Amino acid sequence: MVSAPAQIPTSFGHELRACLRCRLVKTYDQFRDAGCENCPFFKMEEDHERIVEVTTPNFNGIISVMDPSRSWAARWLRIGKFAPGCYTLAVSEPLPEEMQVNHLKLYLATN
Ligand SMILES: [Zn+2]
Repeated sequence: MVSAPAQIPTSFGHELRACLRCRLVKTYDQFRDAGCENCPFFKMEEDHERIVEVTTPNFNGIISVMDPSRSWAARWLRIGKFAPGCYTLAVSEPLPEEMQVNHLKLYLATN
């Protein structure tokens, strides 16, 4: 099963950000308009301050994945169950501790 693809970045400038949970890469504007396709419980499209909390401009390398469930690279990066899209190879900052707790609560509430 191939899930609906995530938005792909419309530019590759400094406004690019990566989701700290799933590592999806999009522009700030895309996160603001549509949130993260893999992490809808962050509700970034409703709470724009949260975009800054749960995404980061500090990441290294981008991989684009068409069919994560069949890609060994996607499985290796542990994004095999996420939507097709552009992902970063490595985020250089962890999800803030407080957001990890919030994220778990949000996740449990929606699943
Ligand atoms: Zn995400």
